[in-house]
Amino acid sequence: MVEINSTRLLEDLAALRRIGGHGTGVVREAFTATDLEARRWLARRFAEAGLRPVWDPVGNLFGLPPTGRPAVLIGSHSDTQPEGGWLDGIYGVICGLEIARAAEEAGLKGIAVVSFADEEGTFEPLLGSRVWSGELPFSAVQDRTDRNGRRLRDVLTGMPELRAAEHVPPQLFKAYIEAHIEQGPILDDAGEAIGVVETIVGMQHVEVTIMGDQNHAGTTPMDRRHDAVMGFVAFAHAVDEAFRSEAAPSTVWTFGRVTVSPNATSIVPGRTDAMLQIRDPDQARLNHLAARAKMIAENISVRGPVEIRTQVIAKLPPAPLDAALVSTLASAAERLASGRWRRMASGALHDAVPVSRILPSAMLFVPSIAGKSHCLEEDTRLDDLVQGCTVLGAAVEPLLLRSP
Ligand SMILES: [Zn+2]
Repeated sequence: MVEINSTRLLEDLAALRRIGGHGTGVVREAFTATDLEARRWLARRFAEAGLRPVWDPVGNLFGLPPTGRPAVLIGSHSDTQPEGGWLDGIYGVICGLEIARAAEEAGLKGIAVVSFADEEGTFEPLLGSRVWSGELPFSAVQDRTDRNGRRLRDVLTGMPELRAAEHVPPQLFKAYIEAHIEQGPILDDAGEAIGVVETIVGMQHVEVTIMGDQNHAGTTPMDRRHDAVMGFVAFAHAVDEAFRSEAAPSTVWTFGRVTVSPNATSIVPGRTDAMLQIRDPDQARLNHLAARAKMIAENISVRGPVEIRTQVIAKLPPAPLDAALVSTLASAAERLASGRWRRMASGALHDAVPVSRILPSAMLFVPSIAGKSHCLEEDTRLDDLVQGCTVLGAAVEPLLLRSP
């Protein structure tokens, strides 16, 4: 039986909370001194657990078991947003480490652990997992710079570990499982302990351009105006109404970026640019909603007509997770947390998205108190952290090999 040592799990999480600790949260942006300190600490912990620490050329850190047979890879990332919480990412890495140790103690082998580089996008969102899975060519990102002007190539050359970097072939693994905090309120609101993720949502970005007629705000009578902001307000309201009746409970949509030109108090706005982001686990519904927004743009009547154009400029397909692994997690959750778990979609992107394209993959969520994340208050009850790791350990046990 894989028996999680809860003290060891929580002590490791607490130790990492101190590296880059900032109030109750953590500041550990990818490839900064604190990020490297944390990941060097992890490399030593991997070695103590009998896992060989291996850095790959983009800075992913793996802990590989000695067995020659394909292992179950468990992990996530250990970097944070410019201001983040103490659990986002690192929970999945430490769960992997603890399960590797607990499996070893139970005479079982075949857990590998990973801390993917730069998940939060200092240089590129999901940098390490996208390069490792082959989705993003390494050569395409080496000249990327971060907001302080550092070049990725120079940052990687500056890491002594990477002089001995090894390519880690995906064939070493038979599955990838990522434990993560939910970062939303669903589990916490329902008083549940475990979310078994079936799909990671897809996303479409619809660029919206509203063309009006720029003019003097004092002298242009109301019935002579073509106001690009009023056009935006009418469009956004119509989209919101239509989506409320046609979307699913799992759909979310956001006008997160709006720019007004020329953005001056005494000028009737001539142009508004906005970005509508739609997220949903279902590709057909994403397509339908993006088309609906276009239809609204073409048919809406605005007092003082304006021209509204829409264009889908980015499409990221949903990532369905591996059905067999999902049901393995679900039966472990039912066994250990009966009535306190659910199947759900992930509204946030994770390293599991690119990895799911090359390995059977699954994800397990634990609750985020009040649904807060990417902030210093991010937190999860300690017994929920332990429960999540316990369920994951029980789920992977049948996939492991007995030690000779
Ligand atoms: Zn994360």
